[in-house]
Amino acid sequence: MLLIFSTSLLIMGCAKENNENLVIEDLFIDEALVPYFERFVAEGMIRGQAIDLVEKRIEGFLMDIEEANVAGQCSYSTTSTRKVNIDRTYWNSATDLEKEFLIFHELGHCYLERSHSDAQQNSNCISIMHSGTSDCRLRYTATSRGDYLDELFE
Ligand SMILES: [Zn+2]
Repeated sequence: MLLIFSTSLLIMGCAKENNENLVIEDLFIDEALVPYFERFVAEGMIRGQAIDLVEKRIEGFLMDIEEANVAGQCSYSTTSTRKVNIDRTYWNSATDLEKEFLIFHELGHCYLERSHSDAQQNSNCISIMHSGTSDCRLRYTATSRGDYLDELFE
C-alpha cells in the first residue's frame, strides 16, 4: 500500500528525465523534439498564451510514417492523448527552421486546435497552418518567422 502510494506520487509529481526523453506524468516527448516543443511554449508565452502541454495531454513521437510525403501528423482524440507524430527520415534531413515549422504546424492542430488556412498574399502563405497542397508558398525564414508566429498564436 505504501509502495503503491509512493510510486503514484512519483508519477504524478515529477518531471522525469529518461534517456533525455521528456516524460511528465505519463506523457512522452522524444528527446529530439523536446527543444521545439519548448520553443512553442516560449513563443506562445511571449504572445500572451499560457501554453500547458500537459493539460492538453500532448505527446511527441519520432517514427517511420508509411504514408508518402507526410512529414508529420497530429492524431487527436478525446479519449486518449493527443499525439504529434514526426517522420524520422524527414526529420533527419530537415534544417532547424524546417523542424520548428513542422512542430509548430502540428502543435497548431494538436494544441491550438486550428485547421488549415491557405490564405495568401502575393502568392506567399500567410499562415504556418497552410495545407501544403495549395499554390501558396511558405517563406519561413529567420526574418519572417516573427510574423508567422504572431499569426499562429493570435
Ligand atoms: Zn496540417
